[in-house]
Amino acid sequence: RWFLSRAFPIRHSSGEIIRWFGTNTDVTQLRETEDAWKMAHAELQRHTQSLETTVVERTAALRETVQELEEFSYSLSHDLRAPLRAMKGFAQILERNNAAQLDADGRVYLGRIASAAGRLDQLIQDVLAYSRVVREPIALEPVDTERLVRQLIDENPALYPANADIEVRTPLLPVLGHEAYLMQVISNLVFNAVKFVHPGQRPRVRIWTEPVDSEVRLNVRDDGIGIPADAQQRLFAMFQRVHGHHVYEGTGMGLAIARKAVERMDGTVGVESEPGKGSLFWVRLRKASP
Ligand code: ADP
Repeated sequence: RWFLSRAFPIRHSSGEIIRWFGTNTDVTQLRETEDAWKMAHAELQRHTQSLETTVVERTAALRETVQELEEFSYSLSHDLRAPLRAMKGFAQILERNNAAQLDADGRVYLGRIASAAGRLDQLIQDVLAYSRVVREPIALEPVDTERLVRQLIDENPALYPANADIEVRTPLLPVLGHEAYLMQVISNLVFNAVKFVHPGQRPRVRIWTEPVDSEVRLNVRDDGIGIPADAQQRLFAMFQRVHGHHVYEGTGMGLAIARKAVERMDGTVGVESEPGKGSLFWVRLRKASP
């Protein structure tokens, strides 16, 4: 067995030892417990180490798979455009050269082929835009939000006063972002805001920014048809639409692209809405200056 032994000499004033005082303690159990604890600790460290290695390996494998999938979807979308161009081209030739030989039904079917090809082309372009936003390396820098919004409105007749009532509450605060990505986000939100109104209604849109902690919140509010609560979150996923494409054209990719672009700029995006009362889409990004 293991013993812990201690002995103290008790001395006379002259220095000579007159007696010993000592203890002799059985520490076998203590030592055994200590050894067991050391072994358990070493074992735990081994497990932690191997768990960390597994996580690192699996994460790398997963990242590789995601990248392969992204590359696959990019090249697939790219290659899909060639046969589509042929379809569109031949439909146009048929319409130009052979329309007279077709009866009324034939012309309707030809029109449907052309418009379906157009929709498919838009879809492919949106998927490509999404893949680009996912893949491209970007650097964040200060972006003049107000200039982008001005430019968007100036360059798009659909946003002129004759077609829509757009109020920009200046000044719009600058943010830390990427100019092309932010333009893509703002234009997707503003075009949705003017698109999703009741048929015949003149769109009314308010755009403003506000500081929130170390961030800027950019708001785009409309008074359109609104979105049911249970659909609001899924809208930011690919191909999600709440309103049918016969009334409101679209591919369901705009908000997915916007969310991915905002994420790439280290920001967040969200929506508050009530059917019939319009929607408020917001984006939060870091302030341009501290
Ligand atoms: P798209 O506009 O091509 O349909 P989006 O991804 O931009 O695709 O939007 C997804 C769906 O979210 C739309 O189809 C629509 O149902 C809904 N939505 C987006 N913005 C608004 C809005 N401002 N008001 C009402 N619904 C909206």
